[in-house]
Amino acid sequence: MGRFGIVSGDYMTTKIEMNRPIVEMDGDEMTRVLWSSVKEKLLSPYVELKTEYFDLHVSNRDKTNDQVTFDAANAVKKWGVGVKCATITPNTERVKEYNLKKEWPSPNGTIRKMLDGTVFRAPIMVKSVLPAVRYWKKPIIVARHAFGDIYDAIGIRFLEPGSAEITYRDSSGHEEKVKYPDFKGSGVLIGIYNIDKSIEGFAEAAFKYAMMKKVDLWFAAKDTISKIYDADFKEIFRRIFESKYKDEFAKLGINYNYYLIDDAISRVVRSEGGFVWACKNYDGDVFSDMVSTAFGSLALMTSELFSPEGHYLSEAAHGTVQRHYYKYLKGEKVSTNPTALIFAWTRGLKRRGEIDGLKDLVDFSEKLESAVIQTIENDKIMTQDIAKLTEPPVTQFVYSEEFIDAVKRNLERSLAN
Ligand code: NAP
Ligand code: MG
Repeated sequence: MGRFGIVSGDYMTTKIEMNRPIVEMDGDEMTRVLWSSVKEKLLSPYVELKTEYFDLHVSNRDKTNDQVTFDAANAVKKWGVGVKCATITPNTERVKEYNLKKEWPSPNGTIRKMLDGTVFRAPIMVKSVLPAVRYWKKPIIVARHAFGDIYDAIGIRFLEPGSAEITYRDSSGHEEKVKYPDFKGSGVLIGIYNIDKSIEGFAEAAFKYAMMKKVDLWFAAKDTISKIYDADFKEIFRRIFESKYKDEFAKLGINYNYYLIDDAISRVVRSEGGFVWACKNYDGDVFSDMVSTAFGSLALMTSELFSPEGHYLSEAAHGTVQRHYYKYLKGEKVSTNPTALIFAWTRGLKRRGEIDGLKDLVDFSEKLESAVIQTIENDKIMTQDIAKLTEPPVTQFVYSEEFIDAVKRNLERSLAN
């Protein structure tokens, strides 16, 4: 009989202890409903959960003038580990729906800016869900730089022929100017920028993550064309690799490679996976969606933010699943896939366990992840979103709570061994 030996149908009262809390950010709609169900059924019976709780429900963000989001991000800086449920980013409809004071900014954007992070997105591999690219055998993890480029660009739409230039002025007033070619008619222009410190943070996070996963790191850009901008990224990656990570990579038997972005695309598709692909902000936006869709679904995806200071936040990559929530409110049963939410918790708990040296907590997290995979892969019990993707196809699907109950059965079997 193991640590969780069965005593007359109940589990032994010894729950896994935690020393320090993880920061818990609750969210909205369907994911909020599943978040509490996952806690109640899959976590609390086995782990003496220590969390510092922040309610990021859109009404509470509104009530606190978004202060709760800042407090939550600061708590991650204090405790080092956080888990986040999906949250509504309000638009005009949401302002009406929840009677909000204004369109508050995206909590993810606020938190990322405060932690200065890089977001790593990896598929959760299930054998029966086949990738659209048949060569892919191992995960491809996209590391997206989440600062600058077109996301912080300024632009002008001009209607006449004309000219334009960019002036940079340093703190002592020295100026440097570059001119665009003369414009022969109407058109558009933008100016984009990045900051070396942020690029260094991105590179550091990517190198550290590749070492943690013991896989190769790729970085791809277009320095042949973008001889100042992309070349700066390439040089920063090279310099940090040579000065800090080269020896450690060699010890682990992993490699760092720079590719031109078009070369990288063709290599990604011909590869069998099993590497981290670091992408500039826009490339990461586009290619993480492509890679995740080709692997299966956003509900089969982990999303982890690592900051240069070692702060960590895990979340589900999908949204609050609004359409399902409205059905749920009408009393209908829904088949929303809680896998990514469960993995947000397991990754957070595992990280806490690794930092605090709690082997039991790390083991528990791994067993819970295996229980989820086993439920889908072996038991063929799954929600409608993956039933569609499975080969051979599965015609029966289950509702969210039934799926969680099936995971619980597998988890208890695994804990009892
Ligand atoms: P969504 O919540 O990701 O859902 C879009 C559709 O994808 C769903 O209607 C559903 O398709 C499918 N889907 C997503 N997650 C699923 C899951 N776990 N299980 C089964 N199916 C799933 O995106 P949205 O409806 O466009 O956005 C809703 C809200 O989420 C918005 O207010 C947005 O601001 C917010 N959002 C938050 C985050 C975040 O916090 N990380 C990210 C994105 C969006 P079917 O309806 O076809 O079943
Ligand atoms: Mg995108």
